[in-house]
Amino acid sequence: MTNLSVRDQAVIWHPFTQMQTAPSPIPIVRGEGSVLFDANGRDYLDMVSSWWVNLHGHAHPYIARRISEQLNTLEHVIFAGFTHQPAVELAERLLTILPPNQAKIFYSDNGSTAVEVALKMAFQYWHNLGKPRLKVVAFDSAYHGDTFGAMAVSGRSAFTAPFTPFLFDVTYLPVPVAGQEEAVLKQAAELFTDEVAAFIAEPLVQGAGGMVMYEPALLDQLIQLARRNDTLIIADEVMTGFGRTGRLFASHYLANKPDLMCLSKGLTGGTMALGVTACTQPIYDAFLSNDNFRTLFHGHSFTANPLACTAALASMDLLLAEEAQASIQRIAEQHQGFANRLATRKNVINIRQHGTIIAFDIYVGEQTSYFNTIRDTAYNFLLDRGVLMRPLGNVLYMMPPYCTTNEQLQYTYVQVEDLLDTLAKRTEQE
Ligand SMILES: *Cc1c(COP(=O)(O)O)cnc(C)c1O
Repeated sequence: MTNLSVRDQAVIWHPFTQMQTAPSPIPIVRGEGSVLFDANGRDYLDMVSSWWVNLHGHAHPYIARRISEQLNTLEHVIFAGFTHQPAVELAERLLTILPPNQAKIFYSDNGSTAVEVALKMAFQYWHNLGKPRLKVVAFDSAYHGDTFGAMAVSGRSAFTAPFTPFLFDVTYLPVPVAGQEEAVLKQAAELFTDEVAAFIAEPLVQGAGGMVMYEPALLDQLIQLARRNDTLIIADEVMTGFGRTGRLFASHYLANKPDLMCLSKGLTGGTMALGVTACTQPIYDAFLSNDNFRTLFHGHSFTANPLACTAALASMDLLLAEEAQASIQRIAEQHQGFANRLATRKNVINIRQHGTIIAFDIYVGEQTSYFNTIRDTAYNFLLDRGVLMRPLGNVLYMMPPYCTTNEQLQYTYVQVEDLLDTLAKRTEQE
């Protein structure tokens, strides 16, 4: 273990990590179901689905077999001028489960690129129509990825600060959380002019922004306001897609369907990097022309990689089966029970849940210095007890793979309750 950690530190720069102060990384040697095993024989319940990507558990034998078969047949092929069975079949099957207005599938490699493509489609759509629009509306505290376009439409924070001069202008709307609905709608009525090319949102749950949740009815009303001027609606379902919120897509809760949808993370069940941008027929049609300049000039080397598409097809088989669908409902019910238990606690506020995602804020009053360290305290406390959770500041959340058993969930809940007891005692002592 030490050996691998030391070698890692000699050569590797980790994501979202302050390399000077971060503890050395834990080498993981194996995964099975919701459990990760480290080099010292310790195990960890993966309650963050390895950054929200894993749906059916680690090293799932069915997905592994399908990828392995594909690997022996065709590992990759250029996707301009050529096509292949897994890409076509995946697009066909995605269109049967996406909202019915979605008509075409564009492949890329990850969530950020899926967002980049959606933004480029939206801007070029207006450009191709000869009515260029320069404005984008996004939510405060949104997270849409780490490439420049995706950063530009994300909420501005410490993460984006060094790049502010390089990010295009975006108009922000507060999230219509409980109590804010009227104010947000009023502001939106003024913001959504005929200069707005696109409105981008994470439907129902903002992930990295702190698991902020809001109701579908509000997004529906915002979409309606935006549509008065034909503004394109981009649903970033990179995190919410594939069952996380209880239904296959968060957009299924909406009456007004988005024009563009971004998918990644759970798309391959968390096994391989793949991104999808889906769009409606009118958007696709705006790029059709004998004029080459109307083309969407965008693509990545590994676009529609056959292994990744196969992984996505295998994951979809599992996801649409009764067992996974029942598990999603089961996890949602377990979370509800836990939410009721949490509700009695003084140091827990803003308990919220959509499907398999549960989140709450740890409340520690005015003690701001303590507040700042709560993330690390919670992370280490839970890791010591074999539970992998990554609090977002004082926000604790769980987003388990769907194969997580009730026993594993209950074990996690109890560890979180112990953490909350410990924190409450410390607050009393201070
Ligand atoms: C993670 C995430 C992204 C970025 O996806 P990457 O694959 O990490 O680039 C974009 N949007 C949302 C909502 C996400 O949660």
